[in-house]
Amino acid sequence: CSGGHFRLQLEDGTVAEARAVVAATGARYRKLDLPDYARFEGAGVYYAATAMEAQLCADRAVVVVGGGNSAGQAAVYMSRFAAHVHILVRSEGLAATMSSYLIDRIMASDAITLHPFSEVCALSGDTHLEGLAWRDRRSGEETRIEAGALFVMIGAQPCSDWLQGCANLDEAGFILTGDGCSPFETSRPGLFAVGDVRSGSVKRVASGVGEGSVVIQAVHRFIERQKTDAMGCGNN
Ligand SMILES: Cc1cc2nc3c(=O)[nH]c(=O)nc-3n(C[C@H](O)[C@H](O)[C@H](O)COP(=O)(O)OP(=O)(O)OC[C@H]3O[C@@H](n4cnc5c(N)ncnc54)[C@H](O)[C@@H]3O)c2cc1C
Repeated sequence: CSGGHFRLQLEDGTVAEARAVVAATGARYRKLDLPDYARFEGAGVYYAATAMEAQLCADRAVVVVGGGNSAGQAAVYMSRFAAHVHILVRSEGLAATMSSYLIDRIMASDAITLHPFSEVCALSGDTHLEGLAWRDRRSGEETRIEAGALFVMIGAQPCSDWLQGCANLDEAGFILTGDGCSPFETSRPGLFAVGDVRSGSVKRVASGVGEGSVVIQAVHRFIERQKTDAMGCGNN
């Protein structure tokens, strides 16, 4: 990304050159390292708690892994549909990682139980998740329950390694934007980022698609500015 243009090396060795680049490489959702985990992804192991998952596990116990706000929101939402919601965290509690309004709602709910110092150790089921076990990290004691769903809410790893220092990233590695003439331009003029890989983006399909369509106008404006050597952002 030096010399006023970009060079992208592709997997087959081809090099593409461009005056502007839009990064839309998304993020990999962190997973649990468990036997049979992949078999149950989409069949009881989920990364989002929406109306669809709520329907699939209505009136069954569900387990949420994670101590951040996404986990808290999933637990509170699922408590409206599930027989019971168990939240598992490896640490001693939620105070350091979750907003207090969510902690208050979780603590006030009879339908949600928090299990500190706990981690999932086994999954069971045939074609769909039917049960799981977790282990208390202090005592080693195992608890087995029948469960219709496991929500894994332990963050995402942005696919931004390939940028190799071309743009500023936040502390988790998501690409920072808003530095240039567009909300999607990065610290490097001509390099834009949209979707899940962008720091602060809403991690949903509709917002990724929306950002992807809006950014193209900013790319055109950037190229026009370069052609005319214009300074400033014009009427953006
Ligand atoms: C299991 C699951 C369920 C979800 N359910 C919903 C839902 O119900 N509703 C909703 O709105 N959202 C949902 N989401 C979130 C949604 O999928 C994302 O917000 C959306 O896909 C983000 O789009 P994106 O284009 O930014 O990234 P992605 O869809 O992740 O696409 C990024 C692409 O870039 C490619 N890539 C990565 N690195 C490189 C590289 N170095 N070179 C070339 N290519 C690269 C990847 O292979 C991938 O094809 C879900 C996500 C998951 C994981």
